Amino acid sequence: MTDAAARPRFKKVLLKVSGEVLMGDQGYGIDMKTVDNVAAAIADVAKSGTQICLVIGGGNIFRGLSTAAAGMERASADYMGMLATVMNALAMQNALEKLGVYTRVQSAIPMAAIAEPYIRRRAVRHLEKGRVVIFAAGTGNPYFTTDTAAALRAAEMGCDALLKGTSVDGVYSADPKKDKSATRYDQLTYQDVLSRNLKVMDAAAIALMRESGIPIVVFSIREEGSLRRVLNGEGTFTVINDAA
Ligand code: UDP
Repeated sequence: MTDAAARPRFKKVLLKVSGEVLMGDQGYGIDMKTVDNVAAAIADVAKSGTQICLVIGGGNIFRGLSTAAAGMERASADYMGMLATVMNALAMQNALEKLGVYTRVQSAIPMAAIAEPYIRRRAVRHLEKGRVVIFAAGTGNPYFTTDTAAALRAAEMGCDALLKGTSVDGVYSADPKKDKSATRYDQLTYQDVLSRNLKVMDAAAIALMRESGIPIVVFSIREEGSLRRVLNGEGTFTVINDAA
């Protein structure tokens, strides 16, 4: 008999992994050891029956906004940022498949030779079949971020939660790396995040999750076993929802 409390609290989730996480302790690029660790955590929950899809950032390789600030046309710089997310997605696909997990990469910018195009109903079907779907190239549009892409895909897939895997174990009142008095919130409302301008995800992503009623869970993906604990409603994290 399965203990009810041990059953995953969330059955279908979207995990947003920022490029910064995949960089590990390097200053730039993809740290394959970190990618392998994140893949192992994903494989663990996928094999136990949770439907899981991913949106991967690209900030470890290229950020449109900072390059635009250095004089490049914003839209072109953003397309380069989206291409960076495709590189990260392929690295994650490779790491997951080494662990025997079936995956599909779907790109918002068609790239027939290396990924499926994004097709919502097809992605839903992959998830039902137990495949991990990795959404690449963000929303496919400049002026957006992969946070917005994560919110959009979480809503489109009908996920129970948007999990934001970061290098900190939740949302703090100030940057815990700089301010020793910073405290971690257990729970916040979407409105708290927007009005206090807390740096969780960009405002468009928060607003979309509020409209769709999908909770956002912020946790540290660097801690071993944290993804599984979050799915079980255990461990340390901040949940953002509309609960009182
Ligand atoms: N980007 C974009 N549209 C999108 C998603 C991403 O133009 O829908 C570009 C944007 O330039 C961004 C870069 O891709 O800076 C990398 O994504 P992001 O900064 O969100 O990655 P993360 O911070 O999660 O690593």
